[in-house]
Amino acid sequence: MAHLNGELFHWKKLNFVDVSCPLCGSDRHRLYERYGEEYQYSYVSCRDCTFIFQNPRFEYNDDFLKWAYSWYGDEFIKETQGKGYPPQQGNGYFAFKKALLDRFCEARPYRLLDVGCACGQFLSYCHGKNCISTGVETSEKQVEFARRYLPFEMICGTTANMQGYSGVFDATHIAHTLEHVPNPRQTLQELVFLTKPGGIVFVEVPHAGSLKNYTDHLRARYRLRKNTWKPGDFPEHLVEFTPQTLKRIMRSVGLEIVYFQSHSRSSMKKSKWVKQTDLLLNRVLNFGNNLVCIGRKPKSA
Ligand SMILES: [Zn+2]
Repeated sequence: MAHLNGELFHWKKLNFVDVSCPLCGSDRHRLYERYGEEYQYSYVSCRDCTFIFQNPRFEYNDDFLKWAYSWYGDEFIKETQGKGYPPQQGNGYFAFKKALLDRFCEARPYRLLDVGCACGQFLSYCHGKNCISTGVETSEKQVEFARRYLPFEMICGTTANMQGYSGVFDATHIAHTLEHVPNPRQTLQELVFLTKPGGIVFVEVPHAGSLKNYTDHLRARYRLRKNTWKPGDFPEHLVEFTPQTLKRIMRSVGLEIVYFQSHSRSSMKKSKWVKQTDLLLNRVLNFGNNLVCIGRKPKSA
């Protein structure tokens, strides 16, 4: 639930605007789902490219950002205080992603930028293991916190503020952030700008068509599911991705797709049975709750 200075977020205080498809620019769309405590928000699906996006949506300005993200990281920082930071991370999820970066980055060491890096948890796991980390994050609180503990550069802002870093990174990584931005295609273009020719852009997003998410969607659509939205919850995902639209948006900014899979956090466990199920559900059928896609920037770019 979002609060600002103790006051509860209320959607009636903000302006709604109509938007075109953020992927192809079309104005032809159909209703995908209504949600929110009064069903006041809606997702539509583009009739031309199937992209799912919030429409109408809040005017994406400083007011919205303050409401939506001022509290982000508070809980994590509170929990971490006194326990030492960075925490020990034996987490299979970070190891899974680091192994993919190692596989597709040719340089040793390679320079990695994490966009929307929060308190730099993933970067801290990677830094020093053939990898030089840099983070960029909009939340001042999280950046200040991370700067106190972490030995690498943390930039406060967005990729739009990084004009001086053209072609600097062997890999740019953005996880569970692209669905929060109003113009994901432009954000990806900024990542491509920051990536070296021949380097990679690593994207991870929730999967709207996963077995769980799609079932939830159908139940919500036909009102078979109780509306669990509470006053003060805000619609933070401005867009939602499927395998098709994620690949399409990455190709649209000139990336060549070199790796793609879905995954669920549970599939990071190592038992043989889980591994076999993971292979079938997440890698063959793409039923997992998250999507990972890696694109390579052409060497000639
Ligand atoms: Zn479209």
